[in-house]
Amino acid sequence: MDATEKKSVCSCDVLVIGGGPAGSTMAAILAEQGWHVEVLEKDRHPRFHIGESLLPHSLPMLKRLGVLSEVEKIGITKYGAEVVSHYHGRSRMLYFSRALDGSQPFAFEVKRAEFDEILLRNCIAKGAHVREGVRAKQVKLRPGQSTLVHAEDSQGQILTWEARFVVDASGRDTFLSGQVGGKHRNPHHSSAAIFGHFEGVKRLAGMDEGNISIVWFDHGWWWIIPFKDGTTSVGAVCWPYYISSRKVPLDQFLWETIALCPPVAERMKNAKLISQAYAAANYSYRRRTMSGDGYIMIGDAFAFIDPVFSSGVHLALNSAMLGAEVVDAHLRCAPEYAQLLRQFQRTVRRGINTYSWFIYHFTQPAFRALFMSRRSKFKIEEAVLSVLAGDAFGKSPIQIPIFLFKIAYYLVYLFNLKENWLAHRRRTQGIPSTLGDTSNAIV
Ligand SMILES: Cc1cc2nc3c(=O)[nH]c(=O)nc-3n(C[C@H](O)[C@H](O)[C@H](O)COP(=O)(O)OP(=O)(O)OC[C@H]3O[C@@H](n4cnc5c(N)ncnc54)[C@H](O)[C@@H]3O)c2cc1C
Repeated sequence: MDATEKKSVCSCDVLVIGGGPAGSTMAAILAEQGWHVEVLEKDRHPRFHIGESLLPHSLPMLKRLGVLSEVEKIGITKYGAEVVSHYHGRSRMLYFSRALDGSQPFAFEVKRAEFDEILLRNCIAKGAHVREGVRAKQVKLRPGQSTLVHAEDSQGQILTWEARFVVDASGRDTFLSGQVGGKHRNPHHSSAAIFGHFEGVKRLAGMDEGNISIVWFDHGWWWIIPFKDGTTSVGAVCWPYYISSRKVPLDQFLWETIALCPPVAERMKNAKLISQAYAAANYSYRRRTMSGDGYIMIGDAFAFIDPVFSSGVHLALNSAMLGAEVVDAHLRCAPEYAQLLRQFQRTVRRGINTYSWFIYHFTQPAFRALFMSRRSKFKIEEAVLSVLAGDAFGKSPIQIPIFLFKIAYYLVYLFNLKENWLAHRRRTQGIPSTLGDTSNAIV
């Protein structure tokens, strides 16, 4: 660094790149502990973001952050998930209260513009310095020394931070992986999503009004997520061959796709699109490691898995909470740093792996058959509900019942081998380039 560069450098203990749920959580905890935390956020909150259905076991983390009552005000209560199978001609309501640990019987559906703003303002209140409209552009990792990060503000001015530790919380932009490599797309799950916000979508009745609906269809699956103000998020995760068939503008394609799924089309007879239509492609990925000399990655910056179980925000909050202990130990030069880092990595991977198995098999006919069946023994249903509720980090004894569920799945698969094998092949074909203009438009 030359003398002029040095003059305009802002020094800090921790630089967090990204002010989504993961970054804001990390920043709030570390600032509370008295560290000098700087957060760079390329957008200005409130801003649109997808990922609106929260899980019950996130609520204790929101309480720990001191934002639960604010989130409650903007959210509609979600007591469970409705799974709809027109292959079986019926739907099933799965309630979180029936999970092994029934202590968290509900969650909330939230507009992410509002939710993310609450979390960001909370970390500012705790003492973090947040720079909105500032995008990290380049990192210089200097092993054994502080790290330099160059960023650009909305006027095009280049700013530099010198940080003792860097936290990559840049979400699906995967800023640090883009700089130092190591990110791998998941070859088994290369689907893409199309979605938008609507008004006039028919709601479930009574206490089920706030529940998410998950609907299987021939080209993937749908979500219907109701919001408190009467509007609804509706989107489909589709297989590559289907996405590549698009010849029309995205909003028209979204409506045409709705028409292909009778249960969704029925609920959307009087619906109107009130946002632009969005697409998110280049879907699931993971990085080999989530840490290096002077940095860690949390939330989607490390890995992204299909959102069918609404696990994204939960995994982001959890990795930020655990990651904050690691960063704090590093800054204190504490002897337990290496052990905390190992524990952090193990737990984060465990959560992701638990969801991944379910996600890879969710759209198989064998999985549908098991999910729609009302016969359940050996606490299998309760254990699956625990995973759905976000209890995937070893708090409840889910291992044996989940193992039995997997055995049942493979038996049903073998029993209907041809049907399941064909479904598997369709799902795993790659994403063709025809998604073109929208392929990186993750929002
Ligand atoms: C189609 C779809 C549906 C989903 N549905 C759900 C759901 O129902 N429930 C759920 O829990 N999850 C869902 N998710 C996942 C969820 O959106 C994410 O897992 C979650 O937002 C991860 O939080 P994060 O903080 O890691 O990243 P993000 O929320 O993406 O936050 C990252 C932040 O970093 C900022 N940033 C990026 N690059 C830079 C840079 N270079 N400099 C400065 N700032 C930067 C971004 O502007 C952003 O604010 C869904 C995802 C998709 C794609």
